[in-house]
Amino acid sequence: MPKMLCSCGNILRFGDIPCKIQYNFISDVDYDKVQGLVDSEELYIQMKMFFVCEECKRLWFFWDGFDKPPQEYVPSK
Ligand SMILES: [Zn+2]
Repeated sequence: MPKMLCSCGNILRFGDIPCKIQYNFISDVDYDKVQGLVDSEELYIQMKMFFVCEECKRLWFFWDGFDKPPQEYVPSK
C-alpha cells in the first residue's frame, strides 16, 4: 500500500479507494471553466489533493501532482 511518513512520525497510508485521509479540491478559477453537466472522472483529473495526518492534523498539499514533493502545513497551537 502506498504510504508516506509524516513529520510527527505517523505513517500516512493512501492506497484505499476511497481514501479517508485524502481530500480533493479545485480552485474557483479552474472550476469556473467547467460548464454544464460534469463527467466525474474529468473533474477528478482537474482536482488537486491533500492528505491530513490523523495524529497531528498536518496537511500535506500536492499542489503540483504526486510527482512533486508535497507542501507541509502545520496547524497553529
Ligand atoms: Zn502527523
